[in-house]
Amino acid sequence: MDVLRIPVLQDNYLWLIDTGDAVGAVDPALAEPVLEALGGRKLDWILNTHHHWDHTGANLELKETTGCRIVGPAMDERIPGRDVGVADGDTFTLGSQVAEVLFVPGHTRGHIAYHFAATGHLFCGDTLFIGGCGRLFEGTGQEMWASLEKIRALPGDTQVCCAHEYTASNLRFALSVEPDNATLVAWADEVGRLRDAGQPTVPGLLSREWETNPFLRCHLPSVQAAVGMTGSPAGDVLAEVRRRKDSF
Ligand code: ZN
Ligand code: FE
Repeated sequence: MDVLRIPVLQDNYLWLIDTGDAVGAVDPALAEPVLEALGGRKLDWILNTHHHWDHTGANLELKETTGCRIVGPAMDERIPGRDVGVADGDTFTLGSQVAEVLFVPGHTRGHIAYHFAATGHLFCGDTLFIGGCGRLFEGTGQEMWASLEKIRALPGDTQVCCAHEYTASNLRFALSVEPDNATLVAWADEVGRLRDAGQPTVPGLLSREWETNPFLRCHLPSVQAAVGMTGSPAGDVLAEVRRRKDSF
């Protein structure tokens, strides 16, 4: 499976997936970069994670120009042009590859992720970022924690294909939470070098997120102590860490 990262807008990534027998575009904000990257190949599917315009803005234009179909969350009617709705535990088949659908609300109430287990790719939109998570626009800390726990349970070699390049600022905040996390300190250094060189930091390995992303670590004493909530439920801790990030 060929997975191409396409930077669009200020800091969005959309993804073009080619299984050899079908092509899908994940969260296309803009049509032109997709059409350009297709280079004459036929677009079969748009895969949407959630309704925000920077993930669905090109849905209707691409559908009209390519005849593709659109899959997105079944319970969210705000996906433009959706043909197929999927829910937690459903499978979505793109050519010869199968994705399991994870319901991961919190950023929006309908947010889903697509996990291609055979190739280890996770397309998680604005739920999990490298070093961070999405803002809680339509959900609680408890909901987001439950969503992140589903993702945390995937294999460590999963490639986290998220929808934004927010890593550098996420890690500045992460260091304020866990300044003594040596893995985090080293990773933040590496991210600084990558970004200085104009390189992307996405996709990233889930196993590194386990070690460095404070939002995946709300059950651990180090993060709980950092926000003065030792022994509190992880969802409450996440809400507080997210609140602090919002004003960081
Ligand atoms: Zn969003
Ligand atoms: Fe977004």
